[in-house]
Amino acid sequence: MNTVFLLLGSNLGNRHFYMHEAIKLIEADIAPVLKTSSVYETQSWGKTDAPDYLNQVIVIETGFPAHEILRRILGIELVLGRVREEKWGSRTIDIDILFYGNDIIDDQELTVPHPGLHKRRFVLEPLAEIAPDLTHPVINKTILMIKNELKDDLIVKKL
Ligand code: ATP
Ligand code: CA
Ligand code: CA
Repeated sequence: MNTVFLLLGSNLGNRHFYMHEAIKLIEADIAPVLKTSSVYETQSWGKTDAPDYLNQVIVIETGFPAHEILRRILGIELVLGRVREEKWGSRTIDIDILFYGNDIIDDQELTVPHPGLHKRRFVLEPLAEIAPDLTHPVINKTILMIKNELKDDLIVKKL
């Protein structure tokens, strides 16, 4: 079994509804959710004029290979009405794989640990709430250390 950290994000439509539905579908299609951070409201990163996001980190434990998890989360995004138009465009739901155990994966479909996570306060705040001592297997620092060194000053507030 592998411990997998996922990031949920929504900034379109009924954001709380999409976050709840995503968790239900993850539990139905992938694995029970073992731990969840609080939900955070966060300023849009990348496209700063877009509506604020809700973000939350969740933990599952699963025997599925990482690429199978990716296939299933992309399916869940489609079920919840995700449409990809422009890069970092607004979305009903985004589900990213942050960590897959300590594995390091880098191919055409998948980069794990997620390559943006250490630069993004909207990931590090919820992640530090539930896993401050987790060591990033590429950067070799704990989440708390990475968060404390972070420069990103977009607003991230716990709801
Ligand atoms: P970002 O990856 O910067 O957060 P995004 O989430 O908006 O941007 P998407 O359009 O949701 O990007 O994803 C595009 C592709 O990224 C996916 O189809 C998937 O193949 C790939 N991808 C690579 N690494 C990951 C990962 N760790 N988690 C989820 N998708 C990933
Ligand atoms: Ca993302
Ligand atoms: Ca994504």
